[in-house]
Amino acid sequence: MSTAAILLPPQEPLAICWHQGVALLQPPSWADDGVLAAFSTRLGGVSEGAYQSMNPSLSSGDDPAKVAENRRRLLSAVGAPAWPVAAIHQVHGADVAVVSQAPAAGWPMNALVQADAQVTRLTGVVLSVVVADCVPVLLRAKKGQGIGVVHAGWRGTAAGVTEAAVEELCRLCACGPDELEAAIGPAIGPECYPVGPEVGREILKNHAWALAETADGRVDLVSLQAEILRRHGLKPASILASRLCTRCAEQLLFSYRRDGQASGRIAALIGLQKQE
Ligand SMILES: [Zn+2]
Repeated sequence: MSTAAILLPPQEPLAICWHQGVALLQPPSWADDGVLAAFSTRLGGVSEGAYQSMNPSLSSGDDPAKVAENRRRLLSAVGAPAWPVAAIHQVHGADVAVVSQAPAAGWPMNALVQADAQVTRLTGVVLSVVVADCVPVLLRAKKGQGIGVVHAGWRGTAAGVTEAAVEELCRLCACGPDELEAAIGPAIGPECYPVGPEVGREILKNHAWALAETADGRVDLVSLQAEILRRHGLKPASILASRLCTRCAEQLLFSYRRDGQASGRIAALIGLQKQE
């Protein structure tokens, strides 16, 4: 797969960046402040079949040895080779884990902490979530004082996981939400995400304004996240929202709705470089 073969939607705010043969979707310029941030794509790993090729997840039936190699390549491509990875046992809730001590070396097989978001001020640690059509959100306090990552499917969105992560990161960094920036990663688009009426009802309970985002038996998860962040105090110019639909972008991204349970996943990774 050559770089030229990948067509991004018009006005896509994330850039495809190739590092050591691995394609990442990245918010441009975050690395300038020492913030390593990326969403994985399918490209650059060693997995086969429905996991082809860059699958970072052990939970969907892929060969653990291949996943280990994919994870090694991914961390290296992000610029965080051999950094410890903080992983969470994602449960579609609104709990935020504050990472206040560096985790053990490696990327754990089993995450013990139940949460759907993580924040930290530590350098040299990668925060991670793994998603399948749900929305991954990366957060940073300006100039890299702190970082966060969120797994926001419809249940977590309804429960307020993104608002909770914003508040926790602001508390940790003693800053206001207007000093945060967000990169919302690729997720399933509204045209590809028909839902039952209970989904819209649950989201509207805590987000009564979200009529457009939950109209016509569909949910626009990415627009919801962007609007939640804006309403929670982030400046519109500080919110990058991907236009890539996981189900439609078959060359580039895995999709649970398209490929089923036994397929690859997308990792959202963020880490702070040690300041020189
Ligand atoms: Zn689509």
